[in-house]
Amino acid sequence: MSASPESPDSPASPGLSIAKALVQARASGVARLDAQLLLAHLLQRNRAWLLAHDDAVLTPPQAVAWTALLARRAAGEPLAYLVGECEFRGLALKVSPAVLVPRPETELLVEWALERLPSAPAATVIDLGTGSGAVALAVKNAAPGAKVTATDASPTALAVAQANAERHALALTLSQGDWWSAVPGQRYGLALSNPPYIAAGDPHLAALVHEPATALTPGGDGLDALRRLIDGAPAHLQPGAWLLLEHGHDQHEAVQALLTACGFGQAETRRDLAGLARCTGAPWPGA
Ligand code: GLN
Repeated sequence: MSASPESPDSPASPGLSIAKALVQARASGVARLDAQLLLAHLLQRNRAWLLAHDDAVLTPPQAVAWTALLARRAAGEPLAYLVGECEFRGLALKVSPAVLVPRPETELLVEWALERLPSAPAATVIDLGTGSGAVALAVKNAAPGAKVTATDASPTALAVAQANAERHALALTLSQGDWWSAVPGQRYGLALSNPPYIAAGDPHLAALVHEPATALTPGGDGLDALRRLIDGAPAHLQPGAWLLLEHGHDQHEAVQALLTACGFGQAETRRDLAGLARCTGAPWPGA
């Protein structure tokens, strides 16, 4: 990986040039931008360099690695796993198959969280089921004064979140456990989660086989994790604290009803850029 592509005018071997590698990608059905990003990752160069050097030739090991990367991308493996990182709200985050690839629509959860962050100094925030740490780190990055806790049932996921926190020098308190059981006896000024919410058997899951199933679906009707987050919230929220939840496009009415049944104040739903009902939240009474 560290070797640079050979200069095109060094020993006369036909070799695989960058231009040919990109043609090969097109033939494999890999989108041009994905192919450029994969190749840039493989050669440890940026895209501008690739564009300026399309006659540079890959070394034989690079050519072998390229064929393998193309096959994996063509088989639907997320680009983020192949290059080992992805961007979320301006933060380059390490990702591995132990965590969901952060989705752009989840930035909505972060935007809303920043609006509902208590103004008190050292406001406490919890992100339940943090995965890569994306939501928790985006909040901490935008609100450095907040004390942010991030939980996950998976120790492997927490290790990824920890690595991301260190990479950006953002302090998180990490706690392992299933939803609220990770933080016994603790109360927060704001609680957030992007839990698994896809229903068992949803055709959508077939396209997501490379990501951890536990991060995508709780099974059943898809509402189990949301129910547990809502039912456990009263024991963990300070008066006036908001609980903000990402959910599926057809789950906002169910989530609103669960919040109301649990004693929360007036629930609100926000739509993502695609116009889909994406997040629902409500305040715990008493402020
Ligand atoms: N939004 C993701 C998707 O549909 C699912 C994420 C989740 O279940 N929390 O691909």
